[in-house]
Amino acid sequence: MTPDQFRDAGRQTIDWIARYLEEIERYPVLARVAPGEIRRRLAERPPDQGQPFEAILRDLDDVILPGITHWQSPNFFAYFPANASPAAVLGDLVSAGLGVQGMLWATSPACTELETHVLDWLVDMLGLPARFKSSGSGGGVIQDTASSASLCALLAARERATGFRTNDAGVDRVLTAYTSTQAHSSLEKAAGVAGVGRRNVRLIDVDAAQAMRPDALERAIAEDRRAGRTPFFVCATVGTTSSTAIDPVPAIAEICRRESVWLHVDAAHAGSAALCPELRWIHAGVEHADSYCFNPHKWMLTNFDCDCFYVADRGGLIATFSVTPEYLRNPATESGAVFDYRDWHVPLGRRFRALKLWFVIRHYGVEGLRAHIRRHVGLAQEFAGWVAADDRFELAAPVPLNLVCFRHVAGDETNQRLLDDLNASGRLYLTHTRLGGRLVLRLAIGGTYTERRHVETAWQLIRKQA
Ligand SMILES: *Cc1c(COP(=O)(O)O)cnc(C)c1O
Repeated sequence: MTPDQFRDAGRQTIDWIARYLEEIERYPVLARVAPGEIRRRLAERPPDQGQPFEAILRDLDDVILPGITHWQSPNFFAYFPANASPAAVLGDLVSAGLGVQGMLWATSPACTELETHVLDWLVDMLGLPARFKSSGSGGGVIQDTASSASLCALLAARERATGFRTNDAGVDRVLTAYTSTQAHSSLEKAAGVAGVGRRNVRLIDVDAAQAMRPDALERAIAEDRRAGRTPFFVCATVGTTSSTAIDPVPAIAEICRRESVWLHVDAAHAGSAALCPELRWIHAGVEHADSYCFNPHKWMLTNFDCDCFYVADRGGLIATFSVTPEYLRNPATESGAVFDYRDWHVPLGRRFRALKLWFVIRHYGVEGLRAHIRRHVGLAQEFAGWVAADDRFELAAPVPLNLVCFRHVAGDETNQRLLDDLNASGRLYLTHTRLGGRLVLRLAIGGTYTERRHVETAWQLIRKQA
């Protein structure tokens, strides 16, 4: 492909995306294909000769779109959002065009320095503690997902708790980790991967608001100590996946300090809310955390994947991951004057993800991003009000931000049927969870293009189907 052909195909591709976004409300939100249906439409064998670009684009419409669940639809209320924006798409396109592999500072200084800079910006934008900034002893790094960030935090905590010997010698004692029954499943996964063992993760009981009970945490730690085990890691959640419950981080942090246990705060979805000063209360206590993460790819208009992971002591993180074979030796690294982000996570290679964040922050400005968060939170509060005012429905959990957990009062069977009917209509997409053993519908409002009229229509549909 010559540069001129690229220009032409590129224009067609951007046009295709723009048209998709213009027409997105026409598609059923949840894909309606059966397993194997998309594969059956694909050519059995790859082409021997190259094909015209137009043919490839045409198959996007004919073959791929029917199998897409439309995450960018304004009527997508499922899970948590994975919202994107045109600015982020273009930033990612530039990253692809540059084709940079930023494992070392020396392999593209701008890739490292823009990342350090934008992650420092975000500390100020979210009102996070200064100890997470690169100018002190801490720093931030972009990971693919919150799951990876939690794994890195757990590994760094494991090394700190064992005098940085486990990497070399393997696990030689029973290490125990703590998180709530409502925490994300990635914690158990990480404990398995880290050799800690899933069975050594204690799932701590929660209160009526689904938030971790510090007294139960304290008891679990004491019990493990009595049994000769080594408590080393606590993960508190700010905005749980089921219901956006917010763990009492100040009380948990006090226990971690007393027990010399690493505190990680997982704010994958909710963290973006702290762009708004009036919502920064969600981060109370984070100033005592050893590590913290949030996902701009959930609620900050930055397309997947992008998790921002911060540590208070980057030395410990780097000591956990650093391995230097001869072929990666270089003067910049030896000088100690640069960050080599390969030492801040599991993979060696890394994409230039900071570009899309930089594009997003510059395009919208902090005020522009706040306006999105405020709109979503306002709409969720309004929706919660409608639920509370209808005798047939009830709220199933507090609504601190943009997720409403609610149910029909008639019980699980009715709620399951309601959920299935709504999703089959194609006009919106909701998912469910269980709270206190009971089925609950979740309506998460965080789409880049979601406006009041979409939420109003969703409520009308819910009432009509009920
Ligand atoms: C979504 C979510 C995760 C996992 O996110 P990934 O980035 O997909 O790994 C972890 N924790 C919480 C609280 C979440 O909401």
